[in-house]
Amino acid sequence: MPKLLISDIIGNISVNTGLNATGMKGRNIYELDAKDLIKLPKSSKLFMLPSRTAVGVEPDSGNFVHTMGAYAVAAFLSPGYTATYSASYLPIGTPAQLPLFSYAAVASYKGSLFTAAIQVDKDIRHNCQYIDMGLVKKNAAKFIKLFPKNRLIPHLTTCALVHGCPNAQNLFLSRFEAPLPSSPSCNASCCGCISFQPRKRCPVSQPRIKFIPKPEELSQVALFHIENTQRPIVSFGQGCEGEPLLQYSVIENAISLIRKSTSRGTIHMNTNGSKPDKLERLIDAGLDSVRISLNSARKGYYLKYYRPRGYKFEDVMRSIRIAKSKGAFVSINYLTMPGFTDSQDEAKSLKALASKYGIDMVQWRNLNYDPLRYFEELNAFTRPEGLIGIKAVISSLRKDLPKVRHGYFNPSL
Ligand code: SF4
Repeated sequence: MPKLLISDIIGNISVNTGLNATGMKGRNIYELDAKDLIKLPKSSKLFMLPSRTAVGVEPDSGNFVHTMGAYAVAAFLSPGYTATYSASYLPIGTPAQLPLFSYAAVASYKGSLFTAAIQVDKDIRHNCQYIDMGLVKKNAAKFIKLFPKNRLIPHLTTCALVHGCPNAQNLFLSRFEAPLPSSPSCNASCCGCISFQPRKRCPVSQPRIKFIPKPEELSQVALFHIENTQRPIVSFGQGCEGEPLLQYSVIENAISLIRKSTSRGTIHMNTNGSKPDKLERLIDAGLDSVRISLNSARKGYYLKYYRPRGYKFEDVMRSIRIAKSKGAFVSINYLTMPGFTDSQDEAKSLKALASKYGIDMVQWRNLNYDPLRYFEELNAFTRPEGLIGIKAVISSLRKDLPKVRHGYFNPSL
């Protein structure tokens, strides 16, 4: 059986060979079976979970026990992999919220590290194994010389070199998808927003842009990337900003400038979809592809997580409808949490939404949020018998809606 990983207080990780490994879905803890696991993908990172004890299973009695003085261990998975169980743990008292990362279950099995996950995308674009940071640094300095007045370049240099943003790193390597952040503000207040945490419950991982770029600054970065990259994508709506639709007028002008110069490349936007009429204008200007974020296909849970200000769930659905009717490629950025996403009710709602609106792609992104805190914030309870597993959710979608693509990254069109 897969064995439990534990950590001491300073993060030394070891195997507890006397206990079988466990994983968590919602508030329920399960013994992990080898068939639930894959080898831990390269470039994944291991975390020790402070103030949270590890939970294992005694092989003889089958009892679940927590390990006094040993902390739980989790994996932050290499991009392209979606967790199927969260790391299990028991909080000690009322611990501080975990930082904004995802926490997949890990185990030791046959002498190697394993995790509870499935591979949903083979694209290597965000895999740090294939990102030459020396070259990123060298090229960032070249970009600054090339575009001395463009304020986006120093901003994106910090994103690439300090905050580890793979899209910014890829801009400086002229590959894949380049970021075009534009919005310092947002009209939602997501529990797990990685760029703004008003109550400072945990640190942000990508501080927000502090200025609104000019259309010329955005188009200059976009055109350089499009001209120098195979299958280029340039994307509005990044981790280091708020909601791009709030800056629709700047973006509309930037898209017009890009499309005046070239018809190459995919112009994409990651958005909360809150302003359907503005989105329509951007598609008319030349936006090719839209990815709309949802933690749930059910209105009630969406509202509890996004906490929208001045827009409704129905507006988000209208954005999807308009984008599809205008011929844009529409993805859902489906923020996945084991025990919630794989509940029968959620799976049914996602399938109904994908079918009704003709969604082109579902991106199975791990939600970067403290697992237990997520269920508390949403006031969500899932019964173990109501869970079907992420793999089964995807298989069922593939069977019933074969045209829907599944993956992790925005495709180049
Ligand atoms: S929609 Fe995006 S930017 Fe706005 S609060 Fe949510 S995660 Fe943050």
